[in-house]
Amino acid sequence: MPKRLTADAYIDGILNGDRVMLSRAITVIESRLRGDKKLASAILQGILPKTGNALRIGITGVPGVGKSTFIEAFGQYLTSLGKHIAVLAIDPSSRISGGSILGDKTRMENLAHDSRAYIRPSSTGLSLGGVARNTRNVMLLCEAAGYEVILVETVGVGQSETLVKGMTDFFLLLMLAGAGDELQGIKKGIMEMVDAIAINKADGVNELLANQAVSDYQSALHLMSHSTSGFTARVLSCSALERRGMDTIWETIEEYVKLTNSNGFFVKNRQSQNMDQLHSSIQQALQDRFYENNAVKSRLLSLEKMVSEGNELPVNAAEHLIDLYLNSQTSLDKS
Ligand code: GDP
Repeated sequence: MPKRLTADAYIDGILNGDRVMLSRAITVIESRLRGDKKLASAILQGILPKTGNALRIGITGVPGVGKSTFIEAFGQYLTSLGKHIAVLAIDPSSRISGGSILGDKTRMENLAHDSRAYIRPSSTGLSLGGVARNTRNVMLLCEAAGYEVILVETVGVGQSETLVKGMTDFFLLLMLAGAGDELQGIKKGIMEMVDAIAINKADGVNELLANQAVSDYQSALHLMSHSTSGFTARVLSCSALERRGMDTIWETIEEYVKLTNSNGFFVKNRQSQNMDQLHSSIQQALQDRFYENNAVKSRLLSLEKMVSEGNELPVNAAEHLIDLYLNSQTSLDKS
């Protein structure tokens, strides 16, 4: 068991904006050691009153679109305005391949040396849901430590975008001009989630193409159903490499915040995100307990075999296992 401090020591450190303590607390939050669970929850409970004050921005786009370059440019634009920012990532590849597309420490080198910025790579080795839960908690710690803007980065793959959308206030999609929608993995579902699209690499010979893409995507977005936020999604262009367009993107985000604060959506959206999280936490906790249960474990393999060979109905096997689980719980209660 690694050496740990008391929950209060972590809480005080975080509230004082101590980055070392923040990192150590994140290690506790991400730890899978049983003994750390209680400590993690005490830390989160302790900092909870100081959370929620940051603006949470989700950023997605296919590998190569320029996410790291953009976050470095945008992040430094924000720190130049005096803002403290934290960069987090949800990387679905880290689980499958063991390696990661995002979160590599050598990326965003300038931002990493900026005293107003804090960069934390994606946690690894868990299910995507587990990584998302960690990221959500890390975001709370960063808010308590005084970071005012949280950038949550993900790759345009699978479910990770939905997870990031579910924990952020504003969702930005980076795209390229002329690369083709299929190439960029753009599904209609993603277009419906975005609050803004930024066509990146609008520089050199690409600039004209990018301007064309802005009007193309703008009309595509207009055809889609209007979002519940009341904000009309924007399409902009930028050059992360040349650090152009950062101000316009920030202004757009500020406009969004102003509008959704005045029409009540901002708060309502956070509340419904919290509710969703409550229900997914219930599902996750029940599922974990179920699969860790000895009575379930002892029958699971043989029932799996019967189901896979077609000798038992999946629904009956499930009922049987759930009965085993519930009975073992009631016998525990009696003892
Ligand atoms: P990521 O995989 O989405 O994180 O993309 P990177 O930030 O690693 O960028 C991929 C490549 O595109 C790198 O070679 C960058 O230098 C380049 N790149 C990123 N942004 C721009 C840009 O605005 N203009 C140009 N010309 N190149 C860019």
